Amino acid sequence: MNLNPSQRPRILSGMRPTGRLHLGNLVGALQNWVKLQDAYDSFHFVADWHMLTTGYENTLDLRQDTWEMVTDWLACGLDPAKATFFVQSRLPEHAELHLLFSMVTPLSWLERVPTYKEQLENIRDHDINTYGFLGYPLLQAADILMYKPRYVPVGEDQVPHVELTSEVARRFNQAFGKLQVKKRSDQEWITWATGIRNLARPPESKAEQFILENFQGATLDVRAEYLNRDVGTLDPIFPEPDALLTSAPRLPGTDGRKMSKSYGNAIFLTDPPDVVSKKLATMVTDPARKRRSDPGNPDVCPVFDLHKIFSAQDTIDRVNGECRTAGIGCVDCKKLAAGHLNTFLAPIQERRKPYEQNPQKVWEVLEEGTAKARIVAQATMAEVRAAVRLT
Ligand code: SF4
Repeated sequence: MNLNPSQRPRILSGMRPTGRLHLGNLVGALQNWVKLQDAYDSFHFVADWHMLTTGYENTLDLRQDTWEMVTDWLACGLDPAKATFFVQSRLPEHAELHLLFSMVTPLSWLERVPTYKEQLENIRDHDINTYGFLGYPLLQAADILMYKPRYVPVGEDQVPHVELTSEVARRFNQAFGKLQVKKRSDQEWITWATGIRNLARPPESKAEQFILENFQGATLDVRAEYLNRDVGTLDPIFPEPDALLTSAPRLPGTDGRKMSKSYGNAIFLTDPPDVVSKKLATMVTDPARKRRSDPGNPDVCPVFDLHKIFSAQDTIDRVNGECRTAGIGCVDCKKLAAGHLNTFLAPIQERRKPYEQNPQKVWEVLEEGTAKARIVAQATMAEVRAAVRLT
């Protein structure tokens, strides 16, 4: 069966279901997914098991958060006719592959993942010192390799995860990949066998082991010679994916730190205009600009970062010039930013409405996408089980 009728290179990316998305999610990932869906066979999944790796204590909102997030995907232009959306936990194949990967992955590979160490140090309000949390990059490797994508769209901070995924693929291929040996003619075989010295030693590699098992009639040194001249090539089960780097502009939250739901500094895609205006009104600015008459520096101001992404060029130019000469005050500057941002968000919020009126539509999109993903996942796992001899 052709599992990629589009013939476009495949990409795979997921998001934890954190509920309604904010501008950081949009600029950091979603906008890029929308751009890529025309050129790639795109698979996007709701990483709900990953939510449990850091927040298993509270799953009350998981279902609603999934709905909210996927509705935002749709509202931002991700199109189920072009891309496949699915829910990770609906496909137990991911858990099975994760388990098999855990058999071949050294513990040290997981312990050195930068985000693991970082989060272990930074998350203090609940205990994440669990087996599941340590193993989440491996679950991610299973999520990715299941679909054998060519690329994984990620930001700079996620590159180590893609590298780990490639290492896991290599390790698994070495352990379970099939050796392909080219057939030789009898004459060639005799030629090779001529002049072989008696040499007895145990097989030193998987390839040698293969030769031993498959050329019982030949002496070990003949097999060794065969091996030296005609080493079987490894037929990998999992191709190694590459990271497709997303360069996202800096998008600070209202307090100037990275925009994040957990910091309480986010502007959501669903925030109505008055809420956006209020959030902008409290946003931090150039800390050195204390009075209206002080000239400011837009290069260090988070409000100007928003202008650069969401405002029209003439507004950006005006703020860039007038801020430095105190020609514009922060109150007016923020009003301008809020106006442009609301104009940007209006069509997204408009596209959300039909789904809000008929929430079932979103579940149907996920159901259909999950069924498509299941076909690929089942094919991969049939191949994997056969390679591991679990049939
Ligand atoms: S005028 Fe605008 S860019 Fe300049 S400091 Fe104030 S908010 Fe920032």
